[in-house]
Amino acid sequence: MGENGMAGEMTEDDIENRHMNPDEVERYSLGDFSEAEAAPFDEHLLVCEVCRKNVEASDAYVAAMRAAGSQIRQKTDKSHLRSRSCAKLRAAAGRSG
Ligand SMILES: [Zn+2]
Repeated sequence: MGENGMAGEMTEDDIENRHMNPDEVERYSLGDFSEAEAAPFDEHLLVCEVCRKNVEASDAYVAAMRAAGSQIRQKTDKSHLRSRSCAKLRAAAGRSG
């Protein structure tokens, strides 16, 4: 009975005893972790409001990025049409003017 010397509580996988770092927060909200990998973070988030807010902020950022990405594509299409009609208007204005 002398094996109490080595404390095995400081492993990197022991997320419940530390905060998620920014990289982990980002990967978590991106869904980059497998279920097994995300499980300890899920448990940590249940008890840690700090990390929960970090993940929520990252989630919002990821959602905004994705929404912005699809909007930029739509805007690009519209501006393409606009520039065409603008060219026609300019040509028309040039003739009449
Ligand atoms: Zn935390």
